[in-house]
Amino acid sequence: MNREKLIGALATIVGDEWVHHRPSELVAYSIDGTFQQALPDLVVSPATTEQVAAVVRVAAGVGMPVIPRGAGTSLAGGTIPLGGGLVVNLARMNRILEVDKANGVAVVEAGVVTAELQRAVEREGLFYPPDPASLNQSTIGGNVATNAGGPRCLKYGVTRDYVLGLTVVLADGRILRLGGKLIKNKTGYQLAQLFVGSEGTLGIITEVTLKLLPRPRYRATALAIFPRLDDAARSVNGILAAGILPVTLELMDNLTINVVEDYLQAGLPREAEALLILEQDGNHPEAVRDEVEQMAAICGELGASTVQVATDEADRQRLWQARRAVSPALGRRGRNKLGEDIVVPRSAIPEMVRRVRQIGQEYGFEIPVFGHAGDGNLHPNIIFDLRRPGELARVEQAAAAIFRAALELGGTLTGEHGIGTLKREFLTEALGPDAVEVMGRLKAALDPKGLFNPHKMFPEGDGVEGFLRQLPLLGTAEAPG
Ligand SMILES: Cc1cc2nc3c(=O)[nH]c(=O)nc-3n(C[C@H](O)[C@H](O)[C@H](O)COP(=O)(O)OP(=O)(O)OC[C@H]3O[C@@H](n4cnc5c(N)ncnc54)[C@H](O)[C@@H]3O)c2cc1C
Repeated sequence: MNREKLIGALATIVGDEWVHHRPSELVAYSIDGTFQQALPDLVVSPATTEQVAAVVRVAAGVGMPVIPRGAGTSLAGGTIPLGGGLVVNLARMNRILEVDKANGVAVVEAGVVTAELQRAVEREGLFYPPDPASLNQSTIGGNVATNAGGPRCLKYGVTRDYVLGLTVVLADGRILRLGGKLIKNKTGYQLAQLFVGSEGTLGIITEVTLKLLPRPRYRATALAIFPRLDDAARSVNGILAAGILPVTLELMDNLTINVVEDYLQAGLPREAEALLILEQDGNHPEAVRDEVEQMAAICGELGASTVQVATDEADRQRLWQARRAVSPALGRRGRNKLGEDIVVPRSAIPEMVRRVRQIGQEYGFEIPVFGHAGDGNLHPNIIFDLRRPGELARVEQAAAAIFRAALELGGTLTGEHGIGTLKREFLTEALGPDAVEVMGRLKAALDPKGLFNPHKMFPEGDGVEGFLRQLPLLGTAEAPG
């Protein structure tokens, strides 16, 4: 089928205006939250599950790769159409179909923006906890496909813990309906969970049934400054050992504190090795305040030089200011940055931060580290400048050293962003060949032609040397002919 016929076939399914084929349209779908770029052949924006299924059947008929896309905020290159293909943009499927208070569930289309769902359920006195920092842009489908998480996940878990049901379009165009409004369900394999975190490689998620919780009415926050990083880590353990499960335990290392202070000039202590933001929520204001005060006291006993506690909203916002400024401050720090995402056992956090500092010194980069101290998920951000000769090769070596340090410490490659293209060459080191082979067999069973999101997740055999350099960089995509 030639290009014109293909456009015609897709337009018959979704309507002319929802097939995007002009260069100016294609370029909008050639990038994500990374610095890679590759142009798709075509983009289609379906409005229903049946349209997605029909689109997939057309693509399968001509052997065209299919790349599912939510909001394109991936930090792993997950939506980059390497080698071209058909991008299926789910953003138009953005209806909240039902907020069912009696059963405590929401049924949504995949393109619903995370924050919009949160606001809608909160109006009903309910709560959808997973809170990726991208929640004002990211979609629920993208969150499910990457098993997204955020600061609240220590207490409330990640997206996976809220998925009760999914509608998925398979590579042959069949529509699979899994689970439903059931909190318990152990009928057969847990197939819905198989698609959670599958990064668009196994099927296209079109509808999601999500568990909701009662909305906690009160929150209190504390900020603790630590002259020594180890004392911050000891405090995290001390808090959990005291039987407190906070919503949030956010960590910033010394370099992050300095990058933020350069940006905000808010009087943060530049010499402090760590800063912790601690938060608790609940329905009884005294209990919430009491637990935050206990956490503050533990930090004080274990080495914090200052601890501030906020119970009213204005004060809370003030304490969060430094953490919220991390992203813009890093954005201003250098021309380019690679925002990494590794996980280590909680007890290994100080050692991991120290190793990142050494790696930064060895390769000549600033690498601020911040993250979720309660769950060991750290974000080392390599600040670099692509205009410097040989820079990308050095970034690769530094990133590889960070991944390997995390693995050596009993950790893993990613807790939030996923594997995508950026970490695929390290998958075997992280999981071992048997696990990767089993994953490959699952992929082949569900998608025998390798139609869905090729070049993602699985190693391509290029090895870890040049794992970034072999990817097309932003600004290098060729204009479509
Ligand atoms: C500033 C910033 C902050 C971020 N903070 C966080 C954070 O705190 N926590 C976190 O977990 N992530 C974070 N991310 C990463 C990203 O936002 C998440 O991975 C998010 O879940 C992606 O959602 P999306 O709708 O943008 O998906 P996309 O980027 O469009 O896609 C992501 C992957 O999911 C697949 N996919 C998307 N939709 C579907 C679907 N309907 N069916 C099947 N596959 C699909 C794609 O093929 C791709 O592989 C951040 C990103 C940015 C830019």
